[in-house]
Amino acid sequence: KRILIIGGVAAGPKAAARARRCDPGAEITIVEEGSFLSYAGCGMPFYIGGMVEKHEELMATPAGVVRDVAFFRNVKDINVLTGTRAEAIDRKNKTVRVTNLATNETYDLPYDKLVLATGSKPVRPPIPGVDLAGVYTLGNLDEARAVRQAVEQVARRVVIIGGGLIGLELADVLGTKAEITIVEMMDHVLSTLLDPELSILVERVLRGKGVQLILGSRVERIEGDGNGAVARVVTTAGSFDADLVVVAAGVRPRVELAREAGLDLGETGAIKVNEYLQTSDPDIYAGGDCVENTHLISGRPVYTPMGSVANRHGRVIGDNVAGGRDTFPGVLGTAILKVFEMNIGRTGLSESEARRLGYNVQSFICPAPDRAHFYPGSKPIIIKLVADASTRKLLGAQILGPGDIGKRLDVAVAALSMGATVDQLASFDLAYAPPFSTALDPLTHAANCLRNKLDGRARSINPLEVKKRLAAGEDFVLLDVRTPAEFNEVRLPYPNVVFIPLGKLRERAKELPKDREIIVFCKVSLRGWEAQTILASLGFTNVSFFEGGIAAWP
Ligand code: FAD
Repeated sequence: KRILIIGGVAAGPKAAARARRCDPGAEITIVEEGSFLSYAGCGMPFYIGGMVEKHEELMATPAGVVRDVAFFRNVKDINVLTGTRAEAIDRKNKTVRVTNLATNETYDLPYDKLVLATGSKPVRPPIPGVDLAGVYTLGNLDEARAVRQAVEQVARRVVIIGGGLIGLELADVLGTKAEITIVEMMDHVLSTLLDPELSILVERVLRGKGVQLILGSRVERIEGDGNGAVARVVTTAGSFDADLVVVAAGVRPRVELAREAGLDLGETGAIKVNEYLQTSDPDIYAGGDCVENTHLISGRPVYTPMGSVANRHGRVIGDNVAGGRDTFPGVLGTAILKVFEMNIGRTGLSESEARRLGYNVQSFICPAPDRAHFYPGSKPIIIKLVADASTRKLLGAQILGPGDIGKRLDVAVAALSMGATVDQLASFDLAYAPPFSTALDPLTHAANCLRNKLDGRARSINPLEVKKRLAAGEDFVLLDVRTPAEFNEVRLPYPNVVFIPLGKLRERAKELPKDREIIVFCKVSLRGWEAQTILASLGFTNVSFFEGGIAAWP
């Protein structure tokens, strides 16, 4: 059997390696137009920042062996053609026309099963000046090497166009080496991953590290210094000097081969595949950044170009081209990243996405320590859970903070993958000892808070909603129930604030008006909820608390 694979980074080599394990006799060939193979694209920011010293480390196995052509031939018995571009697929004769880019020689490679792992390309918006020297995208290892060299040689002032995952990872690794400006078209960074009140917390960290954020602004042009090199980026919000510009404005699937071969594309523009990752031609499979996926919660087609997904695709395809029948059910849009001291993760649907899709949404924002508060090294995290109030099913989770978010995120992924309700999530038997967690894990606690809200026990409001109402000058009492020491340390600067510590609330409640709305808060909202119950027991009818307290105030 001849298995031909186009694309040699994540999905392609993974499919090849799995196919070899499942079918020792198959003839397997990978065609790759670039010079590097099977490298960790996700490691590129850390190579640019110098934490990974050599680019070869991104291509090495954990044992330190570089995955080059010889490695694939000798260890895996896989034939790899680098510097070779696939030009066209002849589905009738089952051949692919390829060109050796060094010699310009063109020839046909036959296949029984073909795999498209052609990946994606960074978007290069058609802005005047985008082709000046010093303007880069970050789509492959060659570009990463060029950016690192530029950073080391010239970059004092770096402008990053795009405040998404890659733009923020770059700001993180370059933050101590250069002055960073991020220009983002949307009103917030990470706007496709997080709800706005959480993006605002990320923005605070970035600004705290000296990163200049230009939000809700478009780049109009990039200007040169007269000698062809970049000098400044001109936006709708002003002009910013730059020695180096990185365009991190998203990626597009590479679908030219598939389109020209008449294969179906999906509504996102990426290649359409079934659950076996077969294209509309059953002998042609596709995976990684060039295909669209089904969202496991909404059931809708989505484009989620992630290395994690590409590797799982590769394994399924490897099985199936070797005669298996493995399936890939879909994705949750899970992502995780680090921005300075803040870890950020998300999975499933955000509240904004869930509302757009018409769910009957209920959400809760819940800060908590990541391990026992008395254990050295305990750090805060903030969890936002989103659920469908009609079915009580979990729809999504967003988690951020300096603490350990990874394990909570992955538990949320497991819950979402199994279609769990918030009640089921709250009952998971999660591990506890003080160095690792709290007796009630933060995720269990967040699920319980959301259950209280779904049951109508807790009446709470999103903090951004409260902030907007304050800005609009609305008349309500903002009741601070923290201790005097906490009140002296940090306050919300609004005339609506009334300060009564929780311990004095029963005795001093008569100072509060019964005919006005009262919104309570504390540091994290636990005492806020208690205050709401106390006031309700004293006959106050219009009381709620805002979620997250001072810890999550946007
Ligand atoms: P690609 O990596 O795009 O590889 C496709 C290959 O196919 C390319 O080498 C291309 O040259 C080759 N090719 C295309 N067309 C042809 C042709 N006609 N002939 C021959 N060869 C062809 N994902 C995560 O999950 N976590 C992260 O932390 C993360 N961080 C990232 C950071 C950065 C800076 C970047 C750029 C991406 C990051 N990603 C991350 C995404 C991840 O790198 C991609 O999802 C992954 O590389 C996709 O793998 P792929 O094999 O589908 O495609």
